[in-house]
Amino acid sequence: QFPLGRRLPCDIYWHGVSFRDSDIFSGQVNKFPGMTEMVRKITLSRAVRTMQDLFPLEYNFYPRSWILPEEFPLFVDEVRMLKDSDPSWKPTFIVKPDGGCQGDGIYLVRDPSDIRLAGTVPTRPAVVQEYICKPLLVDKLKFDIRLYVLLKSLEPLEIYIAKDGLSRFCTEPYQEPTLKNLHQVFMHLTNYSLNIHSGNFIHSDDANTGSKRTFSSILCRLSSRGADVKKLWSDIISLVIKTIIALTPELKVYYQSDIPAGKPGPTCFQILGFDILLMKNLKPMLLEVNANPSMRIEHEQELSPGVFENVPSPVDEEVKVAVIRDTLRLVDPQKKKRKDVQQSIDCCKSKAAIRSDCLMCCRCQALERGPEEPQPAGPAALPSLCLKQVFPKYAKQFSYLRLLDRVAALFIRFLGVKGTTKLGPTGFRTFIRNCKLSNSNFSMASVDILYIDITRRWNSMGIDHKESGMCLQAFVEAFFCLAQKKYKSLPLHEQVASLVAFCEYQLAALDEKRLVCGRG
Ligand code: ADP
Repeated sequence: QFPLGRRLPCDIYWHGVSFRDSDIFSGQVNKFPGMTEMVRKITLSRAVRTMQDLFPLEYNFYPRSWILPEEFPLFVDEVRMLKDSDPSWKPTFIVKPDGGCQGDGIYLVRDPSDIRLAGTVPTRPAVVQEYICKPLLVDKLKFDIRLYVLLKSLEPLEIYIAKDGLSRFCTEPYQEPTLKNLHQVFMHLTNYSLNIHSGNFIHSDDANTGSKRTFSSILCRLSSRGADVKKLWSDIISLVIKTIIALTPELKVYYQSDIPAGKPGPTCFQILGFDILLMKNLKPMLLEVNANPSMRIEHEQELSPGVFENVPSPVDEEVKVAVIRDTLRLVDPQKKKRKDVQQSIDCCKSKAAIRSDCLMCCRCQALERGPEEPQPAGPAALPSLCLKQVFPKYAKQFSYLRLLDRVAALFIRFLGVKGTTKLGPTGFRTFIRNCKLSNSNFSMASVDILYIDITRRWNSMGIDHKESGMCLQAFVEAFFCLAQKKYKSLPLHEQVASLVAFCEYQLAALDEKRLVCGRG
């Protein structure tokens, strides 16, 4: 810990909250720039929705959501339409304030008109979401799953999932929502921070009982009931990979802004907490992603009225210690050094063999002789990894979904000045010109109008006033418009894929031409 500031460079920097440190030029940081912003309720909903527009079937693991206040009229209209087309649909909605956590400010409603309005429109930015009314119950209780995911690298994408997680239980038996029980948080919300205050909360040392259990104990129960646990795991892995694929385009924009390519800087990794709800039919649904999952392995216990003490929580310890230990093992800088040294020894040895006089350098000779001091137990002494690689392992299955990464690469190419996250009007014009997207039907004047219309709308949503210009989501919207114009009859994802391929081809041809001219 460096309460007074840090002077020496480190191998690994473990930040408490977010990536905010302009003084790091090497090593690895446990946070990605922009991750906290990306997993806020509104930003995550937007990123998933864009993917739902492109690939509706693949992204049906996230409840239908609307962003308030700006989509309130859309929410009202869509719900009315859905109710008209299916009168038996009796939905409940959950309203979650943006940036909230631990169940803070969350409430349930049966009808859009029940949303607490200040005047006519809700003021505090929030996400309103279809409430999953039929969750899987264990011991008649609703529960959710907290899974730990290590994003080890963004480029190339590397994802690991912890083999075990936590199941957090409600403390009142579940009933489907009715007007009478809507406000009963101990029945509907699984947050530990809320349920701990219920008289029914059970602290348990056993991973199979109590209000917080290991996910593996739930899987055992399900398996003994004959559930297809293998399929459940594979659905969870897909959910995690697809969610991260939805986040990577914007994360890359943040990354190039904070750590510009070619300049010295750290690499990043991050442990994320995925909150997942299982439906009655065992389909996993994403509730949210946490950029700062709690790593506490203790809980507070009231010894006598008003006297609290921190006591170890074996369930938390079992899951979380393994996650941190294995994250450190995977990002271990010594591992890379050991590999480099081994290569250097091998290289020295082969040179020495060739020249027959052993000229191994002092460093390699010392290493070859072995340590003079006793070394700590090596990796062989540690338990097997709890973090399981899922990407690139399953990359082939998911690569077609990474379309927006390619759109983001085009966006980043035209950002121009390093360190920005927004595209100026000139950058947008250059993009159109270099990709040969303007023609007699689409003049440069129309290009400017498209830029102004979309940029103004996105900036009026009040997401980020620090910089002016077109953000990535606005660029994606403009890109979709251009794709629809150019490839009218295709489905949206094919329109976008065709336009991406067209732009990449034009830019590659331009680069080639410039290279030839340069040589000339
Ligand atoms: P917070 O960040 O405040 O914890 P969450 O999105 O995790 O917000 O929601 C809090 C709790 O509300 C969840 O743990 C879950 O029990 C419940 N919940 C959230 N969204 C839904 C939903 N769409 N359907 C059913 N329950 C939900």
